[in-house]
Amino acid sequence: MRRPVIAGNWKMYKTRAETLAFFRDFLPLVESSRHCDIVVAPPFTAIGAAAEAARGTKIAIAGQDLYWQTEGAFTGEVSGKMLAESGCAYVIVGHSERRQYFGETDESVQRKTKAALEAKLTPIVCVGELLAEREGNQTEAVLKRQFDGALTALTPAEFSRILIAYEPVWAIGTGRTATPEIAAEAHRFIRGLAAAQFTHEQGSALRILYGGSVKPDNIKGLMAQAEIDGALVGGASLDAKSFAEIVNY
Ligand code: PEP
Repeated sequence: MRRPVIAGNWKMYKTRAETLAFFRDFLPLVESSRHCDIVVAPPFTAIGAAAEAARGTKIAIAGQDLYWQTEGAFTGEVSGKMLAESGCAYVIVGHSERRQYFGETDESVQRKTKAALEAKLTPIVCVGELLAEREGNQTEAVLKRQFDGALTALTPAEFSRILIAYEPVWAIGTGRTATPEIAAEAHRFIRGLAAAQFTHEQGSALRILYGGSVKPDNIKGLMAQAEIDGALVGGASLDAKSFAEIVNY
């Protein structure tokens, strides 16, 4: 039985004060929610405030990115060790916005995933196809390329510690969600890649989150799919009430 994970990706939203206000509203709404792991990924500058606000609760904090070196002359970058020290237990790696705007490649995703594991963080590795790739029947080829490029270098023990988020790029921030069936089909394909690369048991144990315009009114249908183990939520995670409704699907 795979334990569900509901993770919120705040992107470049919320100051420290807004983060504290969010947690003040959010904590009572999820106090008795025991059916899933809950993760919040604030921007770097609000990680400390989020970690402080979530201390003593079951909510885990995530970074939205990291660099693969532990330290050095890399202006603007943050290491896994720094995230862990600031209170993160997870880190998002290879988000499509990083791939689209900041030159993230499958190779850098691989390095960052390894670095996250070395820092004892749980990487949430994002994969997903563009609209043109889906329309050109390239979805499986793209997912395989992203999986192979980023994840086949992991040992089985390392692979057992990662989460994958399937996020079709055409569904991110567009209000256009993949149907539960389309998402489940992609999840099944990714699970098959994991089973072929590692073992059948590792494929079965892998938790795959769906991301792309998840909202309170579509989470139930998505989570009804046996293949879908949780959600990575962008816009709807910014509001305490709507994120709590998603957590409490
Ligand atoms: C995301 O940021 O990973 C995401 C899925 O965003 P949204 O829910 O806003 O589509």
